[in-house]
Amino acid sequence: MQNPRSAAAHAADTFGSDTQPDTAAWWADLERLGEVGSWRLDTGTWIHLSAQAARTLGSLTDGGTRLALERLIEAAPEGDRERWRTWWTERSDQRESMEVELHLGDAGRRIVRFTRHGHDLPIGFVQDVSDRWSAAARPSTELDFTTGLPGAEHFLVHLDRGIARAGRRGHRLAVLVLRTEVARPVDDETRGALLAQASERLRQSLRDADVVARIVGDPNEVELASHGDGGFLIMLELAHPHDASNVGRRLLETLSRPIDWLGVAHQWRVSGGIALHPDDGSRPEDLLSHALAAAENARNDGTSSLHYYSSTLNAAAFEKQSLENRLRQALENNELELFYQPKVEIQTERIVGFEGLLRWRHPELGLVSPAQFIPLAEETGLIIPIGRWVMQQACRDTKQWQLDGLPPIRMAVNLSSAQFREPQLFQWVMGALEDAQLEPKWLELELTESMLMHDVESAAGILRRLKAKGLHISIDDFGTGYSSLSYLKRFPIDALKIDRSFIREINTNPDDAAISTSIILMGRSLKLRVIAEGVETRSQLAFLRVMQCDEAQGFLFSQPVPEPRARALLEAQARRGGGYNPSVDAA
Ligand code: C2E
Ligand code: MG
Ligand code: MG
Repeated sequence: MQNPRSAAAHAADTFGSDTQPDTAAWWADLERLGEVGSWRLDTGTWIHLSAQAARTLGSLTDGGTRLALERLIEAAPEGDRERWRTWWTERSDQRESMEVELHLGDAGRRIVRFTRHGHDLPIGFVQDVSDRWSAAARPSTELDFTTGLPGAEHFLVHLDRGIARAGRRGHRLAVLVLRTEVARPVDDETRGALLAQASERLRQSLRDADVVARIVGDPNEVELASHGDGGFLIMLELAHPHDASNVGRRLLETLSRPIDWLGVAHQWRVSGGIALHPDDGSRPEDLLSHALAAAENARNDGTSSLHYYSSTLNAAAFEKQSLENRLRQALENNELELFYQPKVEIQTERIVGFEGLLRWRHPELGLVSPAQFIPLAEETGLIIPIGRWVMQQACRDTKQWQLDGLPPIRMAVNLSSAQFREPQLFQWVMGALEDAQLEPKWLELELTESMLMHDVESAAGILRRLKAKGLHISIDDFGTGYSSLSYLKRFPIDALKIDRSFIREINTNPDDAAISTSIILMGRSLKLRVIAEGVETRSQLAFLRVMQCDEAQGFLFSQPVPEPRARALLEAQARRGGGYNPSVDAA
């Protein structure tokens, strides 16, 4: 998860200042749903807490959103206070996290995870992780009857010694958690036999110095166990951190092979998580809980995979899961909306086109940025129905504007790579145009360089078919991808959109000015229109005008706006019969 400031700033960037007040509410909802609070340390003595952070720290805050640092330090057990204080006071620009047991009045002792970003103005997150921790590492000294392997407490003791030993030798220590799940439910006897064979396989694949233990004595484990599932904890001392994934992968493969028992080959699904000392934590408990979290994440992936722990894992996993479920509903519930941002011809300052940009108006989270949900939609395949909806909506609105007597403009829609790979793409595009009775020349498709490079021949083929129907094709975010000149000639392209990262400092950064200029010149010599993205200031526009860039798009003219506002911009321009007047039109 990003830090609260940049996320808020990003949201404001993306959604525009109109909706800025929503950003705070959106963020607060996200914190509440994810049970991750945020905090900011002021002047080294007071911590300002978000509502969720205040809930997490309960009675410590006396109901307020401000907490004295000293009080927080006192809430830790005496033995931990020194380390806890150092965590708050040491200078480090690294992102750091610490799990600490805090005495929280009525709530009793809870294990709370703090993450800190930056030193000069420290901010970070806070999360109650007690449940995960206790479920994961409930101590047990007993040997597991089935496998003869020790339990988690024994493992933690070994880990403690291992950390010290690896430290002296300058080695890394890896904690590897392997979660096993059998494909079909099995009875207890079979389960025992499978686990015994699995642990034997593990022991044979490891060196003597490596420690293997079973996850036992864990309430979740009982539930898992009834399905024949289980897990192993492994400690490895390594000379190089990357050895962890080599060994981890080898063990994962070893364990994943079917196990024969009484003539039946039992399939397993194995997923693994790795946490490294000292990278991911210094205490045995931290390392174990981090490796468990990573394994859980790998398990949610659905495949036999191996994940490294990273401190943003939990928040990110939550965010993804909850967004995914909701995104499935979004189409049905009509929560998607297409906004439009004008493209302006630089010489005349007339609106000559619009770009359709997707927005998700979530009932609880507010406007969710496409940067957040498009990648997810691609991963889950939801981009296909969503992309079709976008195309239909854009065609319908464009046609309606024409029917209402407004001067015709060209409408651009973005395509994602998943859409581009769909064999049906051509039919869908033509279908959307026919449904709306829109002539193909009014529709433009924005693609990225990487999409074209992926499969040059078939990309060129499909683009030629679309082009032959009269559609326009432009390359989005130009300059950030391969930018190979030779390929440009192979595709029937009409326009290049200079990525906004080059426009931002076009007046001050000589490199950006040079790149933008050469894209404009190249476009001219290839007879392509060139559009500058993200134009925010008059001086950027002046530069682009001197360089004879064709069109500009950006907040200087307008943010992406809902359909009625876009129509109003066109109407205002038609009434005036001339150029764009931001102070009037955007008002
Ligand atoms: P993009 O196609 O490059 O869209 C331009 C992005 O720049 C938009 O972000 C727009 O709001 C933002 N922008 C425009 N002018 C300015 C400016 O002056 N300053 C700044 N800072 N930003 C400006 P948005 O709407 O968040 O969309 C992000 C990306 O999401 C788009 O990048 C596009 O790749 C993708 N996307 C949006 N809608 C769709 C869609 O319907 N389908 C697909 N496949 N992708 C979409
Ligand atoms: Mg675009
Ligand atoms: Mg772009």
